[in-house]
This record gives sequence, structure tokens and C-alpha cells, in this order.
Amino acid sequence: MKEFPKLLIANRNGEIFDVPFIRAAGMKGGEIFPLEVSDLAELHPDSELFMLPDRRPVGCDAGGKEAVRVLSDPFGSGSDCFPVAAFAAPGFSVSHNTAYEETKAAGQLPLFSYAAAAFYKGKFYAASFRVDSERRQELSGMNVDAVEENVRKYREYFPRNRLVRHLESCALKYGCPAAKNFFLERYEGPLPSSPECNARCIGCITHQPGNRCSVTQPRINFVPSPEEIAEVAVSHIKNARDPVVSFGQGCEGEPLMAGETLVKAVALVRKSTSKGVINMNTNASRPDILDRLFEAGLDSIRVSLNSVRKEYYDRYYLPSGYSFGDVMSSIRLAKKNGKFVSVNYLTFPGFTDSRGEFGALRDFVRDTDIDMVQWRNLNYDPAAYWRTMKLKVRSQDMRGMKETVHDIHAEFPCLMKGYFNPSRGRMKRHGDKVKRLEARG
Ligand code: SF4
Repeated sequence: MKEFPKLLIANRNGEIFDVPFIRAAGMKGGEIFPLEVSDLAELHPDSELFMLPDRRPVGCDAGGKEAVRVLSDPFGSGSDCFPVAAFAAPGFSVSHNTAYEETKAAGQLPLFSYAAAAFYKGKFYAASFRVDSERRQELSGMNVDAVEENVRKYREYFPRNRLVRHLESCALKYGCPAAKNFFLERYEGPLPSSPECNARCIGCITHQPGNRCSVTQPRINFVPSPEEIAEVAVSHIKNARDPVVSFGQGCEGEPLMAGETLVKAVALVRKSTSKGVINMNTNASRPDILDRLFEAGLDSIRVSLNSVRKEYYDRYYLPSGYSFGDVMSSIRLAKKNGKFVSVNYLTFPGFTDSRGEFGALRDFVRDTDIDMVQWRNLNYDPAAYWRTMKLKVRSQDMRGMKETVHDIHAEFPCLMKGYFNPSRGRMKRHGDKVKRLEARG
């Protein structure tokens, strides 16, 4: 029999073992799929492996015909064993979640994405594929000593800037790649600015009412002044090659809730420099504020969506004081103003690649003419997401994540594919590619 990807399990101490006689499997919406080598990408050094407590591993028989529930150590010790999941590195999109069964004691898993993991020909793999080759957030490229050195330097440059102080703890305490890139003066600089939000996403990483599960970092608790924001933005734009600066970071609420301040800040930045991209990661709930930001000089927006269908959007974002219609109006307004529009498409295997969502995405891209889809894994407990969102998709209606990404970009060749907010240089390179495609007709 041809060698197949092996199931990985963990013991109570978190030690990981491959099981040579059980095939690795993936899960999508509770459906079990035998993993093929073509589903896998070698585990990137920045990925992490997790053991999942209060759950039992599920694999397949060697032929991939039957699901195999692993109730205890398959090597016969009788002790418990646990599923292993991979938290894929930035730039990789997850095709299958880890296959497991919850026990009665199972609580909600923390806010990470849980890719199926496997062992094959002596190496670790994850059910994933690369959607962006940029090394913007690769830890190997982040020299921590240089970060600390610049944190000290910036204390002298900006002694009274509260936003720089905030980014110091983001970089040094929480290890935020965006904050580290600010102090390394490269790629995308973060401009967190808003403690408030008008959405109540079930997967919000800074606000989990009733401690549904733990948040990954606290929210910024002040609104920086336009001058503090502009100081950080202009410094990054002047120091970084092909720079991007972005509102709407993982350590804040919705930037549009600080609209007045941001309009003044963007105007100050553009008064000082025309270089770089000023971007906003946003829930796009306030087209009126965006209109003024575009006038002030905002260049691009990245709109966060778990689905392009209202019913599923509402179940995840639980919008308060705005509607899915406002989000669509913001996207159209941005295109009318000639701005670059990306979708931060929070993907979930089994749902995102369902025939229903795929069809709706095609209509959405055709209708809005957006510029880019950023295929980003939704960080949420797989079984809980399926339950909470009341999702129902038959396995025969699951097209495959890889196929879905391929087919969307094949049908819309002008649509950029990626994971990170593009710089001016990258937008231009894509623009040139589009021109060549159009010239070829
Ligand atoms: S839009 Fe962002 S900050 Fe607001 S609830 Fe959702 S994830 Fe949290």
C-alpha cells in the first residue's frame, strides 16, 4: 500500500506521537475526510502544534474508507490520548480542521484556528496551502534585539507619545508582529486607536462577554490624539521601504468609532508626506465617516467578512446600530472614490468552500469589483462555530478550500489573492499584471 499521511496524537503531557497504522483525517462541519498528500503543506517553522483537551482523535483506516475513533492510546497502554492541531503560520490558508470528537467535559477552545496535522515521510504537515509568499510576519526575520534597541531609541524620539508606549507593550509583551515591524521600520506599521466597537463578533479577540473564552490581548483603553497618530505614521512611512500604515489592529475595537480623530490624523499625515499607503482594517459600518476619510487621504480599506451573505454575517458580527447594507455601501463608496478594497475573508473549511457561499462570493466579486481577497483563517473552536452559526452543509456540497481559492482567482484574474495588506509597490505590480492580461484579451 502507498505510504499515507499518519495520524498524530498527544498524551496527557503533550508529547506527540504518529500512529503508523491510522491514516490522518480532516474535519469539515463534523464530516470526516481522509487526508491526501495533496491536502498538506509541510509545517512552517512559525506554525504551532496544539493538543486539544477533553477531545478524542479521529482518523481513518489505511484505505481512507472508514473513520476510526481513537478512544485511548492506540499502542495499548490504556491511557488517554488527545487530538493534535496545527495553528498555521501567517500566509497559509487552512483546508481541513482537526478531526476529533468532544467528550462531555469539553469546553470552548481558545481563539485560534485548528488545522488538521499529519506525519508523512518523517516530517510534520498541516492541512493548508500558501496564499501569500510575503515574509512580512515570519519570526525568523524579526531580530528581537533590534526591536528592543529601537524601542529605547523611540523613547528618546517620542517621549510623550502614548501610542508609541502602547506599541512597546504590543511588541515586547504580546509579541505582535505588526508592532515589531514598526520598531524594525519595515512593512506595515500599526495605528490602533479605538477602544469602542459597534459589532459584537462571537470570535472577537479583544472582547468576550461572559468569558465565553479567553481574549488573546486587551484592547487599547484610550484614543490617541491626531498628532500622536500622525507622528507614528509619518515616522514609519519615512523609515520603511514601500510602507503601509494601518488603522484597525487586533488590540482595538472598530477604528471608525474614532472617526473624527482619524480624519484629522490622516489629513496631518498627507500634509507631511504623499508616500506610502494609509489603510484601514474595518467592519466598514460607517460609510459617512469613510467618505470623509477618503477625502482626507485614506488610500485603502480591508473589510472584515466571515460571509458575503447577510444571514451568516449577522450571526457572527451581531451588528449594533449598523447593517450589512451599510457595509456594502461602504465598499461601493470606496470603489467610486478609486480606493483599493480588500476583503478580510475569515475562512472556515466546510462553510467557505460550500456551494452556497462560493456562488454568493462570485456574485459579490462581480457586483462590487473589489481588488483583493485576503484568505485568513477564522480563529474559532470548529465544533462550537458550526453549532453557534447553525451551519448545515452536506459533504457533497463542500468544494474544497484549495479548489475554491483557485476557481475564484481563475474566474476573476484581476482579483488579487493574498493574506497581507498590499503596499503601493505590490499594488502596482498587480496592476501591471492585469494590464498584460487585458492586453492578451
Ligand atoms: S469588529 Fe473587531 S473589535 Fe469589533 S467585535 Fe468584531 S472583532 Fe471585535
